[in-house]
Amino acid sequence: LQMAKQQGRNCFAIYEDSPTHREQRRYAVAIVEEVQSGLKDGRILLAYQPIVDAEGHGIVAVEALLRRADPDRGVISPAGFIPLLEQSGLIVPVGRWTMHEACRRGRAWIDKGAEDLVMSVNVSPRQFAEPDFVQTVAAVLAETGLPRGHLQLEVTEGILLEPTPQTLHKIDALVAAGVRLAVDDFGMGYSSLAYLKRFPLHALKIDRMFVRDLPEQRQDAAIVRAIVDLGHGLGLHVTAEGVEDADQFHELRRLGCDSMQGYLFARPVAAAEMTGVLAQPGRFGAAPSEAAIAMISRITS
Ligand code: C2E
Ligand code: MG
Ligand code: MG
Repeated sequence: LQMAKQQGRNCFAIYEDSPTHREQRRYAVAIVEEVQSGLKDGRILLAYQPIVDAEGHGIVAVEALLRRADPDRGVISPAGFIPLLEQSGLIVPVGRWTMHEACRRGRAWIDKGAEDLVMSVNVSPRQFAEPDFVQTVAAVLAETGLPRGHLQLEVTEGILLEPTPQTLHKIDALVAAGVRLAVDDFGMGYSSLAYLKRFPLHALKIDRMFVRDLPEQRQDAAIVRAIVDLGHGLGLHVTAEGVEDADQFHELRRLGCDSMQGYLFARPVAAAEMTGVLAQPGRFGAAPSEAAIAMISRITS
């Protein structure tokens, strides 16, 4: 039933019980239970990755990324288990926890001097579809005291495509509450651009698929240039994801990206480590500081 619904409803999905399916089901149940108990005993945690200004103004935002600490396998990325959380509905409480934890950290870092820092949190379609999603966001902001304008929600194009009246209402309410909206993995999902004019978005995050083969791949450069022009034409901030080396950084800067995120600057790190990164002088703020310029010129030289 779930599969048929996901494939656009109006279709068949045949259920076949086989050892592989049973195995997969057992695995899915085990992971969901793991996550459920992990929320209570600290095995579900957040890593933070900086988003760096392209012109040397330092760290402008931090993205919160979910992690699962496995006793045998270490810290695990969420790509494999998020679909299971989505299907089971567990993504709703996990997403609320994530937002609360990230906003709490954001508030603490702002208090320590990172005044302009934006906390960027991923939101899954299932979470967004909850009728009380806007109230949840408002409650988290009130509970954590993260100032207006400092929370960015990263949504995928799927949420914005063919929006229902509820979606339109939610987006308006979020923007009215001072929340920024970014389209994550831009360019990977759909080719429709109609939603861009409908929503008061704040940023586009270019998927790392278009960054990976820069600067050699001219097609990628053309796509990035087009996304930057499109974004800027609409008054949006454009961030490039997955920046791993200095050549990519140069090319993305040449193409006009406003900010970048990737292993070149920092891998996602634990909260304590990010506290240390943010405490280094000149890593954020409105004016490009000596330290920020030094960091960028180290990369660019
Ligand atoms: P995303 O939101 O597009 O996040 C960026 C992903 O790229 C992260 O993977 C990050 O670790 C990885 N990354 C960053 N820089 C580089 C780089 O230079 N090179 C490469 N190869 N990768 C880089 P991660 O943490 O494994 O997360 C995967 C996806 O899982 C995220 O993609 C996001 O869609 C989802 N996700 C993560 N945390 C959450 C969450 O709290 N809630 C929801 N709903 N989804 C989440
Ligand atoms: Mg993201
Ligand atoms: Mg992304």
